[in-house]
Amino acid sequence: MVNFNQEQGDGSYKLARKKLVEQQLKPRGIDDQSVLAAMGSVPRHHFVPERLQGMAYADTPLPIGQGQTISQPFIVALMIQALQAGSNDCILEIGTGSGYAAAVLSQIVSQVYTIEIHADLAQQAQHRFAELGYQNINVKVGNGAAGWPEERPFQGIIVSAAPEEIPEALIKQLKTGGKLVLPVGKKDSIQNLMLITKVSKEEIKIKDLGAVRFVPLQDR
Ligand code: SAH
Repeated sequence: MVNFNQEQGDGSYKLARKKLVEQQLKPRGIDDQSVLAAMGSVPRHHFVPERLQGMAYADTPLPIGQGQTISQPFIVALMIQALQAGSNDCILEIGTGSGYAAAVLSQIVSQVYTIEIHADLAQQAQHRFAELGYQNINVKVGNGAAGWPEERPFQGIIVSAAPEEIPEALIKQLKTGGKLVLPVGKKDSIQNLMLITKVSKEEIKIKDLGAVRFVPLQDR
């Protein structure tokens, strides 16, 4: 585990980020260059509480307040890689949390739309985006299970909290050929990370990417 004292500057964080990419992401199958570059550039230590900054580049989730967590870097990379998104795409993320995953996405695609149910987390994330200069991220407070109908359709949707079932509205808001990546399963149990491809208006294809553990997708 990489652990630093807070007085060490951004240079050490840069090195820690490089190690994360080389030692945690590449050996475990993250090989999309745009994802690796984004993971190597977004300063995760600015997305965690100050007292936890020294652990920002360990491959682990961390608490961010309101009983919520910033996802483990490997899982963020895996989910974003599964989207196969390109530089002209608009992507929706449900569960802004710290804003970290949205920031990583913003380095790869044209526009990121992200919805957070806790107003204070959304506000903090928005401040971070402004401070760090991420200008292509749009934040909304609300229940993400309904998606963002005004901005549909999306080339990809990523859900950072687990519903018990796949929300229909999200599939509706995908373009044909688009992808939805989300954990599905019961609260307090292991969930499955699903990759859903919208093959046509009527048909979807589902692939199981393995067992994961996320906070539940809340309904209010
Ligand atoms: N992507 C985040 C992970 C945050 S954890 C990051 O990189 O930090 C999941 C987040 O989903 C939490 O912040 C939680 O408040 C939020 N959430 C839970 N249910 C939600 C819902 N129905 N709509 C929108 N956000 C929700």
